[in-house]
This record gives sequence, structure tokens and C-alpha cells, in this order.
Amino acid sequence: MKRFDTKSVQLSIKNTNKINSKVTPIYQTTAFKFSDLDDLEKFYQGEQDYLYSRVGNPNTDELGQAVAQLEDATDGIATSSGLSAILIGILAVAKSGDHIIAATDIYGGTYQLLAKELKDFGIDVSFVDFTQPKEIEACIRENTRLLYTESITNPLLRVEDLDRIVSMAKEYQLYTMIDNTFATPYLCQPYHKGINLVVHSATKYLAGHSDVTAGVLVGEKELIEKAREKAVNIGTNLSPFDAWLAVRGIKTLSVRMERHNANAQKLSNKLSQHRAVSKVYYPKYVTPKGNGAIVSIDLTNYCNMELFFKSLQWVKIVPTLAGVETSVSYPIATSHRALPKHVQDELQITEGLVRISVGIEDAEDIIEAFEYAIESSVITK
Ligand SMILES: *Cc1c(COP(=O)(O)O)cnc(C)c1O
Repeated sequence: MKRFDTKSVQLSIKNTNKINSKVTPIYQTTAFKFSDLDDLEKFYQGEQDYLYSRVGNPNTDELGQAVAQLEDATDGIATSSGLSAILIGILAVAKSGDHIIAATDIYGGTYQLLAKELKDFGIDVSFVDFTQPKEIEACIRENTRLLYTESITNPLLRVEDLDRIVSMAKEYQLYTMIDNTFATPYLCQPYHKGINLVVHSATKYLAGHSDVTAGVLVGEKELIEKAREKAVNIGTNLSPFDAWLAVRGIKTLSVRMERHNANAQKLSNKLSQHRAVSKVYYPKYVTPKGNGAIVSIDLTNYCNMELFFKSLQWVKIVPTLAGVETSVSYPIATSHRALPKHVQDELQITEGLVRISVGIEDAEDIIEAFEYAIESSVITK
């Protein structure tokens, strides 16, 4: 390797395997090299882990395994987004001609995936009010494979009865899949309760800093293997750098969630007493550790919404959640915009509904910011 052009291309001088870095390095590589054909054969014999990053990469594996550990599941896989993790999870248990049952009040993007794309794949989907077990049972058919719902729903924060879902699934021999994004494994471990597949938008609390789009699916090894095959064939892999950032985020999940939960509890207590807030949605008794960090409030008939959003000072208007900074979103204009009007009405997605993603700042500052925005936008009669 003597000539300049060759030297400038062959720049991988450091063999990271010989450098004892404290944290896992970023394997930002599309593929892995082999010393000879015997070495290559080792991959196919299962003695070597990595070949090509769409098929597997140390950083994405680390993320999948990290979340599997937190959920006490046997295996996990990281993907490019929460939605792609949901897709490969469903495809692991259902194919064309099958039927799945999902809760009506799931995340808007998931609703689109199920209602539009899965139907085009030939997988039929029924949306049912999961507070009504009889309605779920009435929907079960011979080709039904899966019950799909969320541990804490968005944006009205209904806490799902996981034990009921598990026992119904056992009775009818169905698979179960839970989106655990809002609760995180800090508050809730659905796999522990007997749920087969647990999915996360790691974009939210797991990564936690609003700089990564990623998903993770965890569950029993056999199902995750099936999902992995789908992920490889469809190409839902995550970039190594994003996986590395998500793993870094997870290291502070507990301390972030502790503060997120405490601040959300204080804000919900305070806003519940406010004369211009007609309703506060904040779950009770999710776990002794807390009740999550999303507080939704309904200001319909009390506040001018344009003024409210203009008066938020340092609180950002962002159509997502779960960052360390407090932010608000407006479901009717973003996450739930695509839903038919009658579904919005059924779900109580009103003109005055604001979803607050409570951050880890000082609780007093957060409370003052919302009191100011509400006072500044109250409609005087
Ligand atoms: C954000 C979110 C998703 C989708 O995740 P992406 O990473 O944006 O694909 C799914 N479910 C819930 C509950 C979410 O909040």
C-alpha cells in the first residue's frame, strides 16, 4: 500500500478489536470482511455473527438486546422506526388472508399502517373498543391471529388491561402484541405478563433526546427470529450510529423517567384545579414508580387555541413527544388529523385538546409556563 491514492482509500488503520474502548464503538460499516473462504464459511455455519449490516450489525444487535433485557424478553431486534418494528412484528404472526384485531385508540401512524398498508397486503384488520371485551370476542374469526393494542394509549392515556388481553388470547389461541412506547419498560413490562411481542418507538423515551428515529421489537426468540427474517428481506434495518445513540439514551432511562413522572404528576395536579381547563387526562396508579410523563388537557370553550399556542414562551410546539425538553402537540392537527371526523369525535380528539410531553426541567417553571399560556388565552365572556 505505497501509492497516494491507494493510501488515501485504505484508511482503516485502527483495528477497533484491539482497542479496549469503554463503550461499544460505532460499527458504521455496511459489511464485514473475511480473511479467506474458510472464514466466510464460518458465517454460514453460525460461528461468525456478521456479514452485511442489513442482515446484522453489532450496534443494532446491542440495542435489540438492551431492550430485550429491560423487558425480560428472550430476544429483541432494532429497526429503522417504531412503525417498521410494528410491521415486522405483525408479519411475524400474520400473512395474507389472516385477520387481526386492533384497539381503535392506537397511535395515528399505526392506524394508517394497519388500515391502509396491511389491508393492501391482504391482512384484514378490525378496529375495536378494547374497553369492551365482548366486542373484541364478537370480532374473533377463524382466521384471526393477533390482538394489538398499547399499554398506555395516545393521546388520552387509557391504561390497557394487559391481564385481560392475555387471558382472552389464551382462550382463543391468538398472539398478542403491545406498543409499550408511552410506558417504557421503566413503568411496564408487558412480556412479563404473557404478551408475545412488545414494540417500542425508540424514537421516544428509550433514546430520549429527540435525535434518533428507531424502533425495537422484543419477545420470545422464535417469534423474533421470524420477525428478523422479515426485517432482513424488507430492509427495515437501523443505522449503526442511530442504534449507538439509542443505546446511549437508554443508559439514563430510569433517571429521566423518574423526573419526567414526578414533573407530570405535579403539572397534572396543578392544572386539574385550573378554572379554564375542562379536563385533564393523566392516568392513575399505573405503577408505584409513577404514571408516565404525558399529560393531555382539554381547553375547549375556555381558551382561544391560537393564542394558547402563541403564548407558550419557551415550551416548543412539536408533533412528537418524550424528549428531555417539555413540548406540546396538537393531536387534531397532527397525529390524529387523518382520522375520520366521527372517529375523532368518538376518541374525544377535540379542538381544545393539547398533549403535553412533560420534560425534565424544574417543575415550577413548567407549571408557570402553562398557567401563563392558559391565562393569556382565556376567552372572556
Ligand atoms: C411515535 C410512535 C410510534 C411510531 O414510531 P416512529 O418511530 O415514529 O415510527 C408508534 N407508537 C407510538 C405510541 C408512538 O408514540
